[in-house]
Amino acid sequence: MPSYVNPEKCDGCKALDKTACQYICPNDLMVLDKATEKAYNREPEMCWECYNCVKICPQQAIEVRGYADFVPLGASVTPLRGSDSIMWTVKFRNGTIKRFKFPIRTTPEGSIQAHEGFPEAKPEDLDSELLFSEPDTLEVEFPTLNK
Ligand code: SF4
Ligand code: SF4
Repeated sequence: MPSYVNPEKCDGCKALDKTACQYICPNDLMVLDKATEKAYNREPEMCWECYNCVKICPQQAIEVRGYADFVPLGASVTPLRGSDSIMWTVKFRNGTIKRFKFPIRTTPEGSIQAHEGFPEAKPEDLDSELLFSEPDTLEVEFPTLNK
């Protein structure tokens, strides 16, 4: 089920120009209602349920009902983001609660050099059958035909 915002918890990211959920959504789905200063998902059917907005919301105002294969009805999976980790709280249908803590990146936003270490892209690469970083990252040898 797509993400939804609990208006009682959302503070509109204190009226910032771009809220945290707007910043993070890869599908550009979250919008802020300026009148109420509450965010909402404008196209729930386009939501990937990727949990990004759930994880980044500083107020824990966003929830996603996970697919039934990993979150059966009556259970819940809730992330709580800290400065260096995310704590996932898993509540089972029988009431059992388990928590898992995973580290997250702590480097400043925008500091990642995604293409560092890779060769510069060239226009002729568009005609190549290889994908980015291939063949180096394939770690296999291409077969050759014996004629
Ligand atoms: S990130 Fe959370 S608090 Fe901020 S606008 Fe979105 S739902 Fe509201
Ligand atoms: S779950 Fe992912 S795709 Fe859906 S609204 Fe949140 S960030 Fe966007």
